[in-house]
Amino acid sequence: MSYFCGEANQTPRNGVNGSSRESSVGPAGSDTSESSVDSSGQKTPRKIFRIRSKAGEMSFGKLFTSPSFVNPEQAGYVGFANLPNQVHRKSVKKGFEFTLMVVGESGLGKSTLVNSLFLTDLYPERHVPSAAEKIKQTVKIDASTVEIEERGVKLRLTVVDTPGFGDSLNSTDCFRPIIQYIDDQFERYLNDESGLNRRHIIDNRVHCCFYFINPSGHGLKPLDIAFMKAVHNKVNIVPVVAKADTLTQPEVTTLKRKILDQIDEVGVRIYPLPDCDSDEDEDYKEQCKQLKNAVPFTVIGANTIIEVKGRKVRGRMYPWGVVEVENPDHCDFIKLRTMLITHMQDLQEVTQETHYENYRAEKLASGGSSAKSKSG
Ligand code: GDP
Repeated sequence: MSYFCGEANQTPRNGVNGSSRESSVGPAGSDTSESSVDSSGQKTPRKIFRIRSKAGEMSFGKLFTSPSFVNPEQAGYVGFANLPNQVHRKSVKKGFEFTLMVVGESGLGKSTLVNSLFLTDLYPERHVPSAAEKIKQTVKIDASTVEIEERGVKLRLTVVDTPGFGDSLNSTDCFRPIIQYIDDQFERYLNDESGLNRRHIIDNRVHCCFYFINPSGHGLKPLDIAFMKAVHNKVNIVPVVAKADTLTQPEVTTLKRKILDQIDEVGVRIYPLPDCDSDEDEDYKEQCKQLKNAVPFTVIGANTIIEVKGRKVRGRMYPWGVVEVENPDHCDFIKLRTMLITHMQDLQEVTQETHYENYRAEKLASGGSSAKSKSG
């Protein structure tokens, strides 16, 4: 895959990948760097050196590349500029976990979009129910996990689909199972946190919810508003207008405006894209501005590759032409993907610091099982 932003595969400046603190650092006071002599008598670079200094003992990443311990940098360089590399190595080694939920009426193109976003077939054995089945059907929760690796960076992605949403004759309660699922993941995390194995908790909390809006409605429907209001304190909602190829450019502008006005009017809180710091570079500021202006993202999904004027593009072919998924003039697919990739960390932070904390506080207040939690 080629879309991941950043330079995740870059070897850190000191050239060591995937060092582990446990394996490299001996008990306090022992100088583990001494043991790094191989059978040929050659001193091999170690992942972490312990350096004794008058000021005490410090652990750094491989600061000194030469076996003779010569500081390669200028005088006055201590080496903490290297700390981000340690964080980088550790994160790459551990991998990343992310859970994305997709909600919206069936047939809006949720599965197609998710497959286009991650270039994976997340639903190989999907069964689309008939209308008769849908009448009786309640909302199912369908979580699929894939491990994606790109340039050495591992992402454990869980996509939670919600087939049946808005399908039955009476949709009043169709979002109860969804709320239950989100709460269950918080509860699980809370229990894990207060358990013995706190260091290896698998985070299955829902970090982001793409809410699919029908392009042919005149803005949000009552069900859309009811759902968003029911979950906006629990999950980061990112509104998405599906099947944007059915809208003309002026229709897109009008519909986006209308949806934002409705969201404002009814007091729904969607995921707020964070503001850039004033000292960020201009390109990044511009990117943030464009992402903010694109909400709600209009998207087109397709999993077919079509050749257009010698270029291979992902798109949908119609008798009158081809609509390209990754063409910013055709839809906001690229912006949505950029938003997701560049804000994964922020989405996780907001989940942890706002939604999970709300849940935990509520539990503590009600004297629920979380009262056992030590992390308060
Ligand atoms: P889901 O039920 O929401 O998961 O929807 P699917 O992904 O199964 O898509 C339902 C139908 O809509 C399929 O025939 C897709 O080919 C079609 N579809 C998916 N995305 C788009 C889109 O962006 N535009 C149009 N016109 N059709 C789409």
